[in-house]
Amino acid sequence: MEREEAERAYNVYCILIKVSRRVKKPMKAYDVIKKKRDGGELSPEEIDFFVKGVTSGSVADYQASAFLMSVFLKGMSLSETVALTRSMADSGRKLDTSGVRGVKTDKHSTGGVGDKTSIILAPLMATMGINVPMVSGRGLGHTGGTLDKLSSIPGMRLDLGMQEAVEQLRDVGVFIMGQTDDLAPADRKLYALRDVTATVDSIPLIAASILSKKLAEGIDGLVLDVKVGSGAFMKDEESARELARTIVEVGNAMGIRSLAVMTSMDTPLGRTVGNTLELKECITALRGKSAPDLRQVVLTLGAWALFLTDAISEDFDLVPMTRFVREKYMNEAEEFIQKGDAFKKFLELVDAQGGDVESILNPSTLPTAGNVHQIKAESGGMMRKLEAEAVGRAAMLLGAGRETAEGDIDPAAGIIMNKKPGQSVEEGEIVAMFHYNDDRGLRDAEEVFRSGLEIGARDRAVPPVIRDILGINP
Ligand code: URA
Repeated sequence: MEREEAERAYNVYCILIKVSRRVKKPMKAYDVIKKKRDGGELSPEEIDFFVKGVTSGSVADYQASAFLMSVFLKGMSLSETVALTRSMADSGRKLDTSGVRGVKTDKHSTGGVGDKTSIILAPLMATMGINVPMVSGRGLGHTGGTLDKLSSIPGMRLDLGMQEAVEQLRDVGVFIMGQTDDLAPADRKLYALRDVTATVDSIPLIAASILSKKLAEGIDGLVLDVKVGSGAFMKDEESARELARTIVEVGNAMGIRSLAVMTSMDTPLGRTVGNTLELKECITALRGKSAPDLRQVVLTLGAWALFLTDAISEDFDLVPMTRFVREKYMNEAEEFIQKGDAFKKFLELVDAQGGDVESILNPSTLPTAGNVHQIKAESGGMMRKLEAEAVGRAAMLLGAGRETAEGDIDPAAGIIMNKKPGQSVEEGEIVAMFHYNDDRGLRDAEEVFRSGLEIGARDRAVPPVIRDILGINP
């Protein structure tokens, strides 16, 4: 009898052990951080648990910061980056673009100095028959942001609601707006923490941040402009290439046909840096007159956006374009500018978002700085260098940029560059003009600007503005 009872008790004990093994331990933020800290690979469930916790607030900021630093130091595999992107995109609402007919393709830049391409490219793509849902950002530090440039237009609304944005996409073919509170809110929280914990420049975190917002836009295709050089996030070609490859791989894994154009950011793009000055340069470019480097970037991205859109709608592989095809697409894009169609589409876009169309037709009415300071060459020769980061920092000191995400900017402040690398300069010639209202940063701005300027007897090869295209089959 005793033996029978002992056997029964033993069996019950075995069952309890089995059951307890099957009951999963509740996940803890601590364990997720520890696993990543020790170089482990997180499962999609662990990542989703963490991101949900960040969004709801059940994961504290100090834990999220520790997680970000662990990712920064240990990196993430492709499947971890895909899982992080998906969880961040799922953390909020998504635009439902299913009722908008045709392919939806966006263009995104990793950011630079004088990078005003989106303002020209978005209406250009729309006029070429591509639907462009564009969620953009504000500038930070020495880099500018599309939203700040567009904010120079009186009345321009950039805080569209989700429904309104989708309706505008259907009616106009394009919208440009800021990230709403409910679009990828996890990215908003994590980005703010990255900004103050020195974890911005991590490839998986950048890729997940960009793509989570793109996924929430409901796009089919993405043309990415990955900047490389002194004014970019990625200073060297190798890390820019890795970022481009990661975004393309993760984008494609998530069902967004993606390709990346690597472009130079050693020197600012175009002739201006600063919000209203750049907007005016965009208006001139949309009217058919553009600085050569800006024109090349716009037309290359436009040609690839068109090619990608054809590939999506006709379902063919993305193969490298032959020179002939590339020229055909670039010419097509150029024609839409020269015929005035892209400019008309820009007016339509501004009008749809409440902006003052008259100010675009007559840009001299846009905000103008009270003072102009000329920067003259101290010696003659060839301009060998005009570093993007130095120009961006100088513009920021004049009031054109913000040091922190909450900082104010002066829309009229900025720099016009009369000369660019590769051009000859005479002693005493004006190489740039500083536009400013507040002179407190003027002396420092000139010093910083000159630190990035090199004029010498001998020419120096200027690297090509288009460095490479990734995401196409060889
Ligand atoms: N742009 C983004 O949206 N996120 C990043 O992390 C970097 C650039």
